[in-house]
Amino acid sequence: MKLVVTCRKCFSTNRLKEVTSDRYRLSQTIGENFILKCNKCSFENTYSVNDVHAETGALPSVLILVSLIIIGSTLVFVKDYVGINSW
Ligand SMILES: [Zn+2]
Repeated sequence: MKLVVTCRKCFSTNRLKEVTSDRYRLSQTIGENFILKCNKCSFENTYSVNDVHAETGALPSVLILVSLIIIGSTLVFVKDYVGINSW
């Protein structure tokens, strides 16, 4: 899970180096408010931990879902095939 802050000037996404699971731990690490310099426009601004949001990788969850569907349909197919032949 990546922690990102959206720049207030150019709205580009800036990734934080910190990796925490919740906002409380993040505020313990970097403080309630922190200064961040945008990677794109170099605009420096103060952000609070509430501005930070987690960006979950969409690709891994899609891959898991697809593989579950494939495994599930294969099992159903094999079960039906074996069931028909045993009769
Ligand atoms: Zn910016």
